[in-house]
Amino acid sequence: MDVATFLANNTLAFVLCALVLGLLVGSFLNVVIHRLPIMMQRDWRAQAREFLELSAEPAATFNLVLPHSHCPHCDHEIRPWENIPLVSWLALRGKCSSCRASISGRYPLVELLCGLLSAYVAWHFGFSWQAGAMLLLTWGLLAMSMIDVDHQLLPDSIVLPLLWLGLIVNYFGLFAPLPDAVWGAIAGYLSLWSVYWLFKLMTGKEGMGYGDFKLLAMLGAWGGWQVLPLTILLSSVVGALLGIIMLRMRKAGSGTAIPFGPYLAIAGWIALLWGDQITSGYLQFAGF
Ligand SMILES: [Zn+2]
Repeated sequence: MDVATFLANNTLAFVLCALVLGLLVGSFLNVVIHRLPIMMQRDWRAQAREFLELSAEPAATFNLVLPHSHCPHCDHEIRPWENIPLVSWLALRGKCSSCRASISGRYPLVELLCGLLSAYVAWHFGFSWQAGAMLLLTWGLLAMSMIDVDHQLLPDSIVLPLLWLGLIVNYFGLFAPLPDAVWGAIAGYLSLWSVYWLFKLMTGKEGMGYGDFKLLAMLGAWGGWQVLPLTILLSSVVGALLGIIMLRMRKAGSGTAIPFGPYLAIAGWIALLWGDQITSGYLQFAGF
């Protein structure tokens, strides 16, 4: 019996594998969340200098792999055993092994969340191509949501490849027929684009960013145009709920800009996994 047959026949083993894989990927997503915006800013700065015909600034290598992670307080390089998802943070009690400076609890939380979401996706779809594709989407959505929270920025380098991937997986009809996916991408982009311009013409303000249009286009590419109404509806529900929670925790001041991207990401993820059940449940409830 090979590994694929084993996992196909043992859902629990597959879920556990996904959990461990999710924890490891979560650890990598922490690096992406922290470094990708810095890499983008460095890139913009270099481009601007080039455009202004200024000499290039000397810059040390900085990408997702190099330099190796180190403590921001004492420059202590993180050794492999200090980099085990969740376990190391707990073993070190959230402190740097060298200078005892505290390490943000967000790192293990992102790892845990990534592990749990991955395990759920594995359980929901079972050992299948859908599960594999959905795992990639889930990881991408998690990374871009956290970056959007931190910087009000949805990186094209995550959103656009996932948009193409959605069209490719639906070429094989994994989540929706290809025509629905193509129209989903188009309608997803145009719907928020229209809202943006309507809002801007009426109030002179910008209510959301171009990243949000691309994100909804991406979700439409994965789930087909049918997921769009539910995604937009759910994103306002998620937004309201998280807004209340954040007000309760008194973390967000009234003027704090809350990015729309994470709400869309969460809503789109829910719509992709449970869209049919939610819609049919609602229609039953409404008496249709
Ligand atoms: Zn340190």
